[in-house]
Amino acid sequence: MKLNDRGLLIVISGPSGVGKGTVRRALFNMPKHNLTYSVSMTTRDMRPGEVDGVDYYFVKKEEFAQKIKEGKFLEYAEFVGNYYGTPLDKVNEQLDKGNEVVLEIEVEGAQQVKNKVPDCVMIFIAPPGKQALYDRLRNRGTESEEVIQQRIEKANREFQKAYLYDYIVVNDDVNNAADRIMAIIRAEHAKTERSIHAYMEMIGENNNSIDKP
Ligand code: 5GP
Repeated sequence: MKLNDRGLLIVISGPSGVGKGTVRRALFNMPKHNLTYSVSMTTRDMRPGEVDGVDYYFVKKEEFAQKIKEGKFLEYAEFVGNYYGTPLDKVNEQLDKGNEVVLEIEVEGAQQVKNKVPDCVMIFIAPPGKQALYDRLRNRGTESEEVIQQRIEKANREFQKAYLYDYIVVNDDVNNAADRIMAIIRAEHAKTERSIHAYMEMIGENNNSIDKP
């Protein structure tokens, strides 16, 4: 039995190339969960194999700029020359339904979310070592040398930001990393500060009677 009805907002970040997308897919393949993925909007070009509306909503810069003006993003950031943002309406809709919403976003946007939604759960996915990450960025084979260099520099800056997160999960093995994230989500749900009011109602006590030590 779950004591709180509203879903959790879960923010997953980590340096480019750490395998966030793969970990996220493994997480969503696990049995018995009510996670929903928030599809971001971006101005970058579609990579081979990506699907509009599934991996991202791909839009032109003008459309993105218009949506910023209209306040349609929970957060947005520029990343290596392109814009990325989380559409606000879908996030609220899913949280109200009691579903957990997973954002997979870079560090700057994650900070914006933390400021707006302080009770979100912030998870940083780290590589088992820096070299592993550089190798992955090089071997992806979808970007020019210039973009690869920019992503490596960006990753070096992002490495430093893990302290801003509630949890650090090392992606040594995709399924292990996904397991640990699911354990974090379950534990966060049971946290007293999230459940105490619903609990007091359940046992028929007035919330005002919670005694702090
Ligand atoms: P990629 O181009 O490799 O798909 O994504 C580049 C970076 O942008 C990744 O770190 C990814 O997590 C991040 N990103 C994806 N969607 C969003 C978003 O909606 N907002 C922010 N701030 N970053 C995002």
